[in-house]
Amino acid sequence: MLANGINECIQCSIDNCEYHAKKEDYCTLDRIKVGTHEQNPTQKECTDCESFKNQA
Ligand code: SF4
Repeated sequence: MLANGINECIQCSIDNCEYHAKKEDYCTLDRIKVGTHEQNPTQKECTDCESFKNQA
């Protein structure tokens, strides 16, 4: 699943995340956790990548 450190199953454009591949819009983790900050999520804006880590 990981090719050259890039997980082609997880596209992501959050390039200020420590786990972003940088040169391409993919995640480098082998899996992520998606969650929500809402009681009753009804739109995509309600969802979060809970594996996000701010780039140091
Ligand atoms: S951990 Fe989440 S936000 Fe960070 S690069 Fe991976 S998918 Fe994107």
